[in-house]
Formats: sequence, C-alpha cells, structure tokens
Amino acid sequence: MGEPEIPFNRPSIEGSELLYMEQAVRQGHTSASGPFSQRVAALLGEEVGCEDVLLTTSCTDALEMSAMLLDLQPGDTVIVPSFTFVSTALAFAREGARLLFCDIEPKTLGLDPERLAELLDPTVRAVITVHYAGVGSDVDGLQNVIADWPGVSLIEDAAHALFGTYRGRPLGSFGRFATLSFHETKNLICGEGGALLVNRPDDVDRAHVLHDKGTNKRAFMLGHVDKYSWRDVGSSFGLSDVLAAYLYGQLEQRESILDKRRSVYEGYRELLAPETEALHIELPSVPAGCTPAYHMFHVLLESREQRDASLQYMRARGVHPTFHYVPLHDSDGARRHLARPSPCPVTEDVSGRLIRLPFYNSMSSADIERVVELLVASIGELSPSAAR
Ligand SMILES: *Cc1c(COP(=O)(O)O)cnc(C)c1O
Repeated sequence: MGEPEIPFNRPSIEGSELLYMEQAVRQGHTSASGPFSQRVAALLGEEVGCEDVLLTTSCTDALEMSAMLLDLQPGDTVIVPSFTFVSTALAFAREGARLLFCDIEPKTLGLDPERLAELLDPTVRAVITVHYAGVGSDVDGLQNVIADWPGVSLIEDAAHALFGTYRGRPLGSFGRFATLSFHETKNLICGEGGALLVNRPDDVDRAHVLHDKGTNKRAFMLGHVDKYSWRDVGSSFGLSDVLAAYLYGQLEQRESILDKRRSVYEGYRELLAPETEALHIELPSVPAGCTPAYHMFHVLLESREQRDASLQYMRARGVHPTFHYVPLHDSDGARRHLARPSPCPVTEDVSGRLIRLPFYNSMSSADIERVVELLVASIGELSPSAAR
C-alpha cells in the first residue's frame, strides 16, 4: 500500500487558461458576452456547425433556455430519459411541462426509439436525448420516430458529447437545440459553465432575448434599434468573460485533451476486453460510424451486489470509482410532474450494475493498470467462480 489515491476526477490546467483569465480581468469586460465569450462561441459554432452559440452559466441553464424557447402551454408534455442527470428533466418541469420518462436501449444507454414510439401522443412537444458517456444515441432511429409527429422537437443534452460524432457529423448538430456543460467534471471545463447551441435560424433572435434577461439588448448592440427594453421572458443566463477565458484556454487544447482521454479509454478497454467473459462484465459499446467524445469509461457488472461490493473494495484501497444516475422516473422530484407513469426496466437494471472508473486527462498507464487490477480482484473476491 502507501500508493497515492486515485480520485474519480482530477481537473487539470491544459494550456493558457490562467493567462487568459488575467487578460480578461485586465481588459475590463468581465461580465457576459465579452471578447473571450465571442471567441468561444465562434470556435464552437465552427466545430459543431450550428447556427448560433450562447454561453450560459451551466448546462442546466441552457436546458432551461431550450424549455423556454419551446413556449410550453398547459398540458404540454416533454419526453426525457430516466437514465440522466436531474437537470435534463427539471429544466422542462419548471417551465410547466408534464414529463414522460422513456427507457434506454442497453447498448448505447441512450433513448430507445421503440420505447419512444410507444410514448408519443398529441400533447408531446419535445424529446430530449442524452448521448451517454459521449457516445451518440440512436439519432437516426429517434428522428424516424419523431418524423411522424411534426410538432415535436428533438433536443440533445450533449453535456458529455462535445466533439463526439454520429455517422460523421458532430453531436450537437442534430437537435433543434443542443446543450453543453463545462462543469469541472466534464471533458472541457471552466468550473461552472454551459452553452446553448441553436440549430434553426428562426430561433436565434428569441434565444438572445431570453439570454439578455428578456430584453432586446442584442438588437440594440447591433444597431438595429435605438434603445432596448423588456420584450419577453428570460433570465441572467450569460457566462462571465473570466470563465469564458478559462474555457477558451481549454478549447485551444481540445485535440490534446481528446487524445489524452482517448488513450485512457483505450487503456481500460485493452486491459479489460480479454476479461469480459471470465468476470461476467460488459464494456461500453460504440455503434459503427460513431466516434465517442471519451467522456468516461463505465463497466456493467453482473449484479447490484457485485457493483456495490466492488465500489467498496476499491475505495478501501485508495481508488475511487463511482456509480451513476439513480433512475428519475420513480423519484420523489419527478412524481408531481408525471404525465403518466411509464416503466423503465432497462434504466433500473443498468443503474444498479454500472460502475464508472476513475477518468481524467492526466491518468498514467500505471494508474489505469492499478484500477483494473483492483476491479478484477474485487470481482474475484465476491464471486470466486468468476476469478481466473
Ligand atoms: C452534467 C450534466 C448536466 C448538468 O450540467 P451543469 O453544467 O452542471 O448544469 C446535465 N445533463 C447531463 C447529461 C450532465 O451530465
């Protein structure tokens, strides 16, 4: 023993983050929509190929903006996964939507188009899909199902998925809106931050009004009107330029960050792939034509008991994997907002058996080997039949 702990996540400085933050402060524009925000938005717009990009203080905020942009009416329903973070559902509930929870398919852990088809009805206004772990959900399948319902918008919660692709196209470019997170636990970070990606030209103006506390300030700044005033709903959604500067420093290093994360991912896969049968485990699967954003590495163990025992075993030895989403569909928070109950058996099963291994840019191959050794040992410990 005596080896250093391996945390679940370890944020790192990758380039000019500190220099740019100092520049932002010295420049004097530290509020939203400053020079660094413009550089970040231009870069993201170029990379993802969307119509417009609005930086927000979180992905939760970006989801709230997309909920407001739907202009929901009483009785409207929004379909969300149960296997996701609370914000994916909460953002729509607080705009008055009734929620319908859709189950995931067991390969990508993204929304299952077959389950979606069973849930759609004339009250549904939007479907939110999460690209879990940065692997594209079945966008083609979802779009085919939604095509029969012209009033329904697809929204991508792309918090894990920036720079991942689906059939050669960037994730975040498929939905009417897509939302990003730059929270310290994500791939590219600035502490707390997010972005709303707008893919339809006719949503751009209103998105800016919502972003500017309900005013047409942007039209004023562009010289289109001679004063600005209160026009619509909205809030203070904008990201400080100090944080946008931090984020720009990270984004400049996007290739190196992605490379580092890819090699952690591949390191885990190489060591674990030969063990899957002996250990009764399942590794993440990536559909043909998709490149993940390498957000995390998760493993499905044989049972909830095994998962809980492995977590405990590894933590006791200084290595810190973790579980993930607790199903939302039967949570206390969701109950008041349900359109009607819907079963999510795959979510329940996966949620109980999933373990996320430590994953961060600066992990060494020795770190990866130690995590895998402990995972393997923890499984042998509880179920001697699974040991080699
Ligand atoms: C992290 C996360 C969010 C929330 O992001 P914040 O930036 O912390 O608001 C929403 N959805 C998913 C899928 C996430 O992983």
